[in-house]
Amino acid sequence: MAVEYEVEHPRKAYGWAARDSSGLLSPFFFSRRKTGEKDVTFKVLYCGICHSDLHKLKNDWNDSIYPLVPGREIVGEVMEVGSKVEKFKIGDKVAVGCLVGSCSSCQNCVNNLENYCQQAIHTFGSKYVDGSITYGGFSDFMVADEHFVVKIPNGLPLDAAAPLLCAGITVYSPLRYFGLDKPGMHLGVVGLGGLGHLAVKFAKALGLKVTVISTSPGKEQEAIQHLGADYFVLSRDQDQMKAANCTLDGIIDTVFAVHPLMPLIDLLKSHGKLVTVATPEKPLELSLSSLVLGRKSIAGSYFGGIKETQEMIDFAAEHNVRPEIEVIPMDYVNTAMERLLKADVKYRFVIDVGNTLKPYPSTAFH
Ligand code: NAP
Ligand code: ZN
Repeated sequence: MAVEYEVEHPRKAYGWAARDSSGLLSPFFFSRRKTGEKDVTFKVLYCGICHSDLHKLKNDWNDSIYPLVPGREIVGEVMEVGSKVEKFKIGDKVAVGCLVGSCSSCQNCVNNLENYCQQAIHTFGSKYVDGSITYGGFSDFMVADEHFVVKIPNGLPLDAAAPLLCAGITVYSPLRYFGLDKPGMHLGVVGLGGLGHLAVKFAKALGLKVTVISTSPGKEQEAIQHLGADYFVLSRDQDQMKAANCTLDGIIDTVFAVHPLMPLIDLLKSHGKLVTVATPEKPLELSLSSLVLGRKSIAGSYFGGIKETQEMIDFAAEHNVRPEIEVIPMDYVNTAMERLLKADVKYRFVIDVGNTLKPYPSTAFH
């Protein structure tokens, strides 16, 4: 979909955008609104690359709006605050994740679940209340209502903090909500990518036992020796899968490719829960008897609310949960996307926007 019209804002901004579903990113000039009463304006320092960015770039979900400036794992430094901003001041290290707006009055918003608000406004590729299209963190600065901004605690490296904003909250929230957070429980993590490796780290920090279920034999050693997983199972090896049957209290499934669900359900103990955070493009086959006969359940989860995002970041800082990142310059982004498509990243690309998005004097924020 092309933009029907674009609201021209007073502030010139600069970033990288895709113009069509080739997904190829290149420099892009646009505009952002002035800092409103409740707004925080911050210089982008780092931005993680989520596989969702890639899905959006390629229009995998048939809802992308071009030009599209991706990026929803955004960390930066506050440069200006509006007159009614209460939580932030100039110089604070802050972050924005998947959302920049919601209705604020529905049941979900009232319960701090803005992520499930029917009028949620996504950080990029959504229409904002003023009619403009939202642009993400592959850009020089952001303007966001303070409600959707979180604080980066001291001690958390700013580059490694970025992936927490989407990957981190997306795996942390279901661990908490579905009660898969009790020490001694046994969790399965399917797919050891950006989300999966953080599921392992959060689960270990919560005191769980973790089995990684992966398609990549080459990830075994690192999963156990470096990420702290207890066991590793190759999903394509039926013997290994059978040996792990009925061992897990829960599973976080991060695989977006079409894959068999039934062998995963077999890994669950009675009452076990399989929570998927990915959305494969075709329906997966499911026999309900596999649930009925063990009082098992399948559920989904969609990142998290702002309050829980702050809680997750504070937890990560306190419990030393640090995403494994490969920091890249802005002009490497197209190569990074190609590598992400081939699962060739350990485990999250983070763009050093602050140092490598070349400043254009005419667009400088101040
Ligand atoms: P990623 O870094 O690319 O990791 C995906 C992992 O899936 C791969 O590392 C790979 O792990 C596994 N995999 C299995 N079969 C695959 C195949 N055919 N092709 C590629 N990978 C395959 O992706 P991510 O950033 O973690 O995101 C995972 C999914 O979650 C994406 O679809 C994304 O859109 C979605 N997501 C959802 C939410 C939400 O709120 N629900 C938020 C963020 C992202 P192994 O090598 O170990 O098999
Ligand atoms: Zn709402």
